[in-house]
Order: sequence, then structure tokens, then C-alpha cells
Amino acid sequence: MSDGLLRDLAGIVGAGYVITDAAGQEAYVVDWIKKYRGRAMAVVRPGNRDEVAAVLRCCNDAGVSVIPQGGNTGMAGGATPDDSGRQMILSLGRLNRIHEIDPVGNTITVDAGCILANIQTAAREAGRFFPLSLGAEGSCTIGGNLATNAGGIAVLRYGNMRELALGLEVVLADGRIWDGLQALRKDNTGYDLRDLFIGSEGTLGVITAAVLKLHPAPTARATAMIALSGEQAALEFLVRLGSRAGDRLTAFEFMTRNCLDLVLQHVAGTALPFKTMPPAIVLTELSDADAEADLSALLEGILSEAIAAGIATDAVIAQSGEQAKALWRLREGISEAQVRAGKTIKHDIALPIGRLGAFMRETEAAIEAAFPGLRFLVFGHLGDGNLHYNLQRAPQMNDDDFYALTGPLNRLVHDIVGRYRGSISAEHGVGQLRRDELPRYKPPVAMQLMHDLKTLFDPHSILNPGKLLQS
Ligand SMILES: Cc1cc2nc3c(=O)[nH]c(=O)nc-3n(C[C@H](O)[C@H](O)[C@H](O)COP(=O)(O)OP(=O)(O)OC[C@H]3O[C@@H](n4cnc5c(N)ncnc54)[C@H](O)[C@@H]3O)c2cc1C
Repeated sequence: MSDGLLRDLAGIVGAGYVITDAAGQEAYVVDWIKKYRGRAMAVVRPGNRDEVAAVLRCCNDAGVSVIPQGGNTGMAGGATPDDSGRQMILSLGRLNRIHEIDPVGNTITVDAGCILANIQTAAREAGRFFPLSLGAEGSCTIGGNLATNAGGIAVLRYGNMRELALGLEVVLADGRIWDGLQALRKDNTGYDLRDLFIGSEGTLGVITAAVLKLHPAPTARATAMIALSGEQAALEFLVRLGSRAGDRLTAFEFMTRNCLDLVLQHVAGTALPFKTMPPAIVLTELSDADAEADLSALLEGILSEAIAAGIATDAVIAQSGEQAKALWRLREGISEAQVRAGKTIKHDIALPIGRLGAFMRETEAAIEAAFPGLRFLVFGHLGDGNLHYNLQRAPQMNDDDFYALTGPLNRLVHDIVGRYRGSISAEHGVGQLRRDELPRYKPPVAMQLMHDLKTLFDPHSILNPGKLLQS
């Protein structure tokens, strides 16, 4: 059966775009954090929407599962096949055309396989701004961003991917095409199909194109790194900054000293901007479309007051674009430094912002009591209530003993998150990483509705089975 199917697929996309050899498949079958490795019958690389539709029709008829994949930078194992060797990876990378920019409606229409950074560049060249920004922007695709409802560093001001999309084009499991590629800011004609596909992690349909919102280009910017005594001080500073800077507050990133220590150790060319390492650090950015806005003066004033009030202990304001980049490198280097430093057990959680301090104190105490010696690597988008709450093994522990703690540690952290009415997946998605935990934290009615929707959209369960929902 597989020979016939592979021949049919080669007939659709061209033989050169059906990859069956192990070496050619390697980059597609392992995830970015190297936690998941699968095997695939083939990697299929269609060149346009109609080829995607024909591929899905063939696979649906043959009962062969399809794993949509964009840039393969996801953090939840959502784009990795299982190890049966019977699943097909559908790589969207060749759907990479930017169709049009509408400067009046402030929109950009793109193929799903466009790399995020290329969309940002196209918007910039048109005098506009596409605000989604994250560490993997040089290789993740907008289809993957949509499928995971990606967040990143500018959610505080612009919202996550769901808030940045206007219309979608989606190919369904049986090859039908839903053309929802509209550039409307208002449309009350019934259920919102777009919002169902956003965040569905490739389980309901394959996104092939999108209309995205653009914003005025920020021409004034001020970036600062602030030393603080801990998370409570960071929250107080967030409130103070938010009330003074209003919607010019664009980013508010938090990291504990352990994270910065790790970056300084593992990422070349980084340096601490303070004389001594503080317990907690915030990287913040203000921006404005008015080039005359003196944001550095505004930030300086707020920082002086915060230092005088004992909220902040030290601060540096970037004096040039290069200095701002160097500060951002410290924040963005955390993911890379973690990979180099060895295994971590990760949590991507969201909490009501006002309860973050209490959550962090309670969780830290509980982990120290139950699993002494683990190293806390806590950082994230504090302004969105989103923490990457990660743990590294104790120095004397081997990797196997550390990994054996994954289940109990997840249970401990996520049960506290549940009690605070938070979420166990803030921006990375559920994938296979959180799939089995989801039913414990989502109401049974919500789980049932999600299963019902899956059956409706994909009756033969060929689209990314075993991701997000148990099959
Ligand atoms: C260094 C680093 C930093 C990161 N920082 C952030 C961050 O700040 N915020 C954040 O949200 N994420 C972050 N991520 C995670 C990741 O980059 C995002 O989840 C990204 O949106 C995934 O895009 P991708 O194209 O790589 O998708 P993939 O990894 O290829 O796929 C992710 C999921 O989307 C599905 N999918 C992909 N394309 C399609 C499509 N066209 N149609 C339907 N389903 C599809 C896949 O099946 C899978 O379930 C980071 C990752 C790295 C490596």
C-alpha cells in the first residue's frame, strides 16, 4: 500500500519532494529540544494549496496519518511523528509566498510556510510593523505560529497570534478547502471557524494561508534592564511602569539570576550589565510610532522613582541599538543556554498576573521540600502572566534519576497552577508533551467538546493523531 501511496504523492508534488531516505528525513523527525524522535513513511513537501489538498485527499483515502510541520521549532513535540514509520510528515516550507500588503487596511496576506522573520521584514519595508516576535523567528513559520497560537515578547501590547490574524485558508482532512482568507475586522456571520483552527496544533486542518494585521512602525524605542530584589518587586515595577507608560509598554520580560548565570556561562559574547548579579532581572521596552517621543527620558524618570522607592536596585538604559540588542541577547539566550547546559524539566504556565508572586513562593517551597537540590530556571513574559518554570537536575544527580522526576514534578507544579486557576500551557501548545495531563486540568465538558470537534473535522483521525488529544 505504501508504494502505491508514495507513487501517488510523487505524482502530486514531484518525486523530488517526497523524501523517504533517513538522512533526508533527519531534520524533520526530531524536535527542536531533541526530546522527541519519530519515524516517517515520507516527508512530503507540497508547493501550493491545491497540492496540499490533493495530498490530504490521498492520505485520508488511504487512512494514513499526516503530521503538519512548519519550521519544527515547537516546544511540545507537536510536529514529530510517532515511531511507527507509518505516518506522513507534511512540510509546509515551500508555501512561502508573500501575496500582498494592503497599506490602507493595514494587512499582509501570506502563505503558511513563510518564515516569521521574512514577514516582519516585508512589513518593515512597507513602512509597517508585524509585531509577533520570538526567539525562533528566523526559522518558525506563520502556519506554526497560528497552529500554536504563539505568544512571544510583544503580547503585552499587541496580543498573541489569535489577535494578530484576520483570515485563514485551511485544507481539511478530506482535502476540502475552507476559504476564510478575508481581511475583515468585523464579521458576525456565525461561529468563528478561524479561532477554532488557531491553536488547534494541526489536529483540525492544515493552514495554508493567512491575512494578518499590521501596525504602525514603532520609530521611537527605549530598552532597559532592571535589577530587582525578587518577583514581588518585579510585579510592583510592572504596575508602576504600566500606569505611567500606558500602551507604550511593549515588553516586560522577567528572569531570575540562575537564568542569567546560565546565559553568561553558555552564550558567547554576553556580559552582565550590572556590577553584581541581582536576584531578579527585568528587561523592558517602550515603543511609540511618534519618532519625537522621548521614551528614554520617560523610562529614566520612572526608573529613578522606582529606585528611590526601593522597588528597583539598579538599572541600565540602552544608549544605542547595539546596546539594546546586547540586552535582548541576554533574554533570548536563555533557551539556547538551557539546551547547552543539559536536561531541564519544563513548564509553560499562565497565571493571573496579580497572583504570580504568591504562586512562585508557594511552588518554590513545595519543590524544595519534595525534591531538594534542583536548580530553578524561572523566566518569561511576566507582563502576560506567562512563566517558563523550568528545573535543572541537582549537581549530584544523573540524567535518568532526574528525568524520573518529570511526572511527580509536573503534577506538583500543575496542581498548584490549577488551584490558582491558571493554565498548564500558555503559549507552546499541548502537543504530546502535555496531552496526558490536559484532562486533569480542563473541565470534562470542555474535553468532550474538543473530542466532538475533532470527530467532526477529521472523522478518520488522520490529522496529527495523538497530539493535543488522546486518540
Ligand atoms: C528559541 C525558541 C524560542 C521560542 N520562543 C517562543 C515564544 O516566546 N513564544 C512562543 O509562543 N513560542 C516560542 N517558541 C516555540 C515555537 O517557536 C513556536 O511554537 C512556533 O510558533 C512554532 O512554529 P513552527 O513553524 O516551528 O511550528 P512547528 O514546530 O513545525 O509545529 C508546531 C505545531 O503546529 C502545527 N503546524 C505547523 N504548521 C502548521 C500548518 N500550516 N497548519 C496546521 N498546523 C501546523 C504542527 O503540527 C505542530 O503541532 C520558541 C521556540 C524556540 C526554539
